Amino acid sequence: TKFSELPISPRTIKGLRECGYTKPTEIQKATIGLALQGKDILGAAQTGSGKTLAFIIPILEKLFSKQWTHLDGLGALVITPTRELAYQIFETLRKVGEHHDFSAGLIIGGKDLKFERNRMDQCNIIICTPGRLLQHMDENPLFDCVNMKILVLDEADRCLDMGFEQTMNAIIANIPLERQTLLFSATQTKSVKDLARLSLVDPSYVSV
Ligand code: AMP
Repeated sequence: TKFSELPISPRTIKGLRECGYTKPTEIQKATIGLALQGKDILGAAQTGSGKTLAFIIPILEKLFSKQWTHLDGLGALVITPTRELAYQIFETLRKVGEHHDFSAGLIIGGKDLKFERNRMDQCNIIICTPGRLLQHMDENPLFDCVNMKILVLDEADRCLDMGFEQTMNAIIANIPLERQTLLFSATQTKSVKDLARLSLVDPSYVSV
């Protein structure tokens, strides 16, 4: 299978090709089709499996399909455990999304809250670490998630291991339910299952 055989837009295919990606990995093959049908997903996948593109492609396709002619506000949020992972996701998004028109931001701390807050209001896609995002939500209850279409919980087991269970629950509770949620985790512990139960609706299980 090639990416061009999947229901992916020419703009995304072009970005993928320019990055040297022609064939989807197993997790990408298994996830992309289901995600594009609008399913919530519980993905069991390790780092290195290609899970980043498994959620970046659905984000781009969901936000930039013909359905939404005009992107208004924040459409996608990715929560990942560390700054380093957030950077990697951001870079991949920037490169693969090269031919789409959107604004993406990192909310990972290291800049003052006000600066990040201003960025946030202009972003269509945000990549964040859980602690920093909650800080914003606490500071500003008007944090605008009403147009949020897709939420990604990346390396959920690591987020939970780092003590972010309550934080994750609070974030999830703040985001309207008319969203699609993709949860990825290398391990399927009880706390991951609890988080899945809280955040996913009738999920498809993808394991590679
Ligand atoms: P990830 O698991 O998302 O961190 O990806 C692991 C590595 O696999 C990264 O270096 C990616 O650039 C690479 N990769 C991801 N998807 C593909 C693909 N479809 N074809 C070739 N390399 C890929």
